[in-house]
Amino acid sequence: MPEEPCQCPDCQRFYREHDRLIRENPTLRQQQELSWAALQSFRTLAGRVLEDLQKTQPEADPALATAASGAAASGSADAGDPDPDAMAQALADLENINAHLFSIEALMERIFDVRVPEAVEQKFRELAGELAPDPLNADRLRLNRLLHQTPDLPG
Ligand SMILES: [Zn+2]
Repeated sequence: MPEEPCQCPDCQRFYREHDRLIRENPTLRQQQELSWAALQSFRTLAGRVLEDLQKTQPEADPALATAASGAAASGSADAGDPDPDAMAQALADLENINAHLFSIEALMERIFDVRVPEAVEQKFRELAGELAPDPLNADRLRLNRLLHQTPDLPG
């Protein structure tokens, strides 16, 4: 018996997004551009946040860090101030993420060097249409309507 794919809201959102990305980027070229843009935007944003946090972190100065945690303990710090340990952990995590993104970029560059003939791109389009048909396609809308018809609904 084949295993049914999970239908929890998170997975359903993932399937929808997955199919949309295929539908809207049905060629090798478009998938390359999409992945590259996603990677670069992730790197730009995460790198900038890390840079900004490192500038404002008192962590570099132990005296300041102690003063900050002392203030937190006495309750005089802003309620929005994050726990210094949690902040240090977050900075370490972000540094790791940025290092991994950098490695992924080096690997991706090789994938993105590839160009294929138009006939192969046409095969991509054809299979994209099978894997992720247009949800607004008339046949599909009719089918969905049938599938979702319940005795409770009029019509
Ligand atoms: Zn799930």
